[in-house]
Amino acid sequence: MDLTSLDHIRTPRSRSDLVLGPGSAPLAGGTWLFSEPQRDLSELVDLTGLGWAPFEVGEGLTIAATCTLRQLADLPAVPGWRSQNLVVECLRSLVMSEKVWDLATVGGNICLALPAGSLITLAVALEATAVVWTPSGEYELPVLDLVTGVRSTALGPGDVLRSITIHADALASPSAFGRAALTRHGRSGAIVVGRRDGDGLVATITASVPRPYRFAFSSYPSTGAVAEAVDTIEDWYDDPHGAPDWRRAQTLRLAEQVRRELA
Ligand SMILES: Cc1cc2nc3c(=O)[nH]c(=O)nc-3n(C[C@H](O)[C@H](O)[C@H](O)COP(=O)(O)OP(=O)(O)OC[C@H]3O[C@@H](n4cnc5c(N)ncnc54)[C@H](O)[C@@H]3O)c2cc1C
Repeated sequence: MDLTSLDHIRTPRSRSDLVLGPGSAPLAGGTWLFSEPQRDLSELVDLTGLGWAPFEVGEGLTIAATCTLRQLADLPAVPGWRSQNLVVECLRSLVMSEKVWDLATVGGNICLALPAGSLITLAVALEATAVVWTPSGEYELPVLDLVTGVRSTALGPGDVLRSITIHADALASPSAFGRAALTRHGRSGAIVVGRRDGDGLVATITASVPRPYRFAFSSYPSTGAVAEAVDTIEDWYDDPHGAPDWRRAQTLRLAEQVRRELA
């Protein structure tokens, strides 16, 4: 849609030009920004002109915020990364057209902070660290702490997500993925990812909750231990894609499913 409140769209080519004043917001793929009126915005600052490489495979995996969903889907298979299948599982969980896949970015999905943002799922399940550029420097924080609620993040004014980094150990550990939606092609209502961590298990819960939850068990948990952890959640998300009691029930079911799969 036309964003009539905008005065202009600026495309910086270097970090020194990447200045976000009042009324400015980063523009990535624009698939959400141009989907509804943005009355508080007068300027968009297009990050795609900065020319960041979509991803780098080294000791681990670094994904630029501007990496599109299509580019991430083309990540080459890396021998030994037993959790790499999570990339495709999480991408497939976004119910969108091929056209949107070509434009939507990893950073846009994370910073939009919707419960069904499954790049958040990927990042939290693999214990990714976010690199955030500020007007005067940069800082790092776990993506778990970056997403604080529905459409809410820990980013301050002028902050830009630069990239996320995933350690090779997390990518090398086996994982299991479970997803529920109200309809076959519906938006995610609950996602649970389990990942073996030594003798234990790390369970990540998204989509059914306003912000991601992660539960770490140092030894392999019983059915009851997983259910007990899930039941500490009090704020189940409620929208047309699922009622809170249904989301809780699906989360418990999926958590037991991934626990059994990885036992
Ligand atoms: C048909 C359709 C289906 C969709 N389904 C889903 C879905 O299932 N789940 C879901 O989560 N979303 C969904 N979306 C919403 C959206 O398209 C995606 O979340 C997408 O990944 C957003 O990425 P983008 O690059 O287009 O973000 P943009 O629209 O460019 O930006 C989104 C927000 O993030 C901010 N932002 C972007 N990049 C950065 C950065 N690097 N640093 C700081 N802030 C930044 C922007 O200022 C803006 O507030 C859907 C959209 C459509 C059109």
